[in-house]
Amino acid sequence: MKTLIKNAQIFDGTGSPRYPSDVLIEGKRIVQIAHAIDSSVAEADAVIDATGATLMPGLIDGHTHLGLGSTVEYRSPRTEPEETQVMIIGHNARVMLDHGYTSIYSGGNRRPKVEVALRDAVKDGWMPGPRIRAASWEVSADTMKAPSATLNPGSPNEHRGAYDRPAITQKVRDFVHEMADVGVDIVKMPLTGESALVEYTSRILEFQEEEVAAAGIAARERGIWLTAHAHSSEGIQMALRHGFRVIYHVSYMDDETIEMAARLAEPVFIAPSPGSLWMMGNMDKPPTPGMEVEEATQSLRQVVPKLVKAGIHVVPGSDYGFGFNPIGLNAKDLELFVDWFGMTPSESLRCATEVGGHLMGMSEELGLVKEGYLADLLIVEGDPTDDVSILQDKANLSMIMKDGELYKLAGHRSPTRHRGAVAV
Ligand SMILES: [Zn+2]
Repeated sequence: MKTLIKNAQIFDGTGSPRYPSDVLIEGKRIVQIAHAIDSSVAEADAVIDATGATLMPGLIDGHTHLGLGSTVEYRSPRTEPEETQVMIIGHNARVMLDHGYTSIYSGGNRRPKVEVALRDAVKDGWMPGPRIRAASWEVSADTMKAPSATLNPGSPNEHRGAYDRPAITQKVRDFVHEMADVGVDIVKMPLTGESALVEYTSRILEFQEEEVAAAGIAARERGIWLTAHAHSSEGIQMALRHGFRVIYHVSYMDDETIEMAARLAEPVFIAPSPGSLWMMGNMDKPPTPGMEVEEATQSLRQVVPKLVKAGIHVVPGSDYGFGFNPIGLNAKDLELFVDWFGMTPSESLRCATEVGGHLMGMSEELGLVKEGYLADLLIVEGDPTDDVSILQDKANLSMIMKDGELYKLAGHRSPTRHRGAVAV
């Protein structure tokens, strides 16, 4: 199967300005990018005219919870029977794909076995969804149980502080191994508390140094990645010392910690997660002072431009999946990267494409419109490098292609030439 996309303005994911070109896709990959590719010479099965639109890489999200249940189509009361909860995870994946997200690096799932199964089903091609790096649920130091037994535990975090209790190093180690046995790609740990869940706790340390060190060793032994939820410099530094690959939130990251992150031999990825702060700050019911939404917002707006200046990888994703912050609104992050952090729209888009390819561990084949790369592609009506907010309306996505297969194609972009069947 060969698909030729003609007359596109290409945003290639690197942050460079758009340029006009045609793109030929064969099987899963982009095989040619050139001016005026002749459909007969190229033996194209289908030709899609993208005149007036932008062709760009599929979006990549670094911090979404497929297991939390809420999307723009369905708001979960979190009381569904178990069977429904399992189906919701699949529903969430489909909604992500509908909004142009062709890859996600999971932020954690209460049912890691289901997320692993979903990852594999998507990979095998019989379930619609983004490609997934599957994660464990995050468990607090006090609830180190099998995640399936802690479904809806109320608050996932207990907040006595890490050093007010005996060390549970062996439990942490066992948890990492248990999750590796389940088949996750990522183990998630909340190294600090979360004021949005339990007031005034975002700067409280949840784990002791030796526990985090044990997690680092176990993860390296098993060849899986670690993600930290961490708001304070103390928690972030602990993550950096023990080889965590991804850090979420970083609201109060100080200059010393930014320098430490910039000096690492292996790059760290940071998802500052502005979307959840924005949503909490704009709810009908204003946040309580103890949720520290205003403090975190003001601080984060100072932190992220420094991260960018220091050359640290920043990726979008903001705890999407909560009722107040449902899946499907993910692209709000890209607008906040511009409005809050001072990026240009192209810089913001690069975080969700080229940097996202690195985040997925697939930088040699994912996240760019480039010959040889996987054909995860969007046709966007309009110019997101001028106004990145247009990506928030899925009606502006007239084509969604993943692995060279058309998932969506709007009627007015119907192929003009068929040699074989076009799978839509
Ligand atoms: Zn999260």
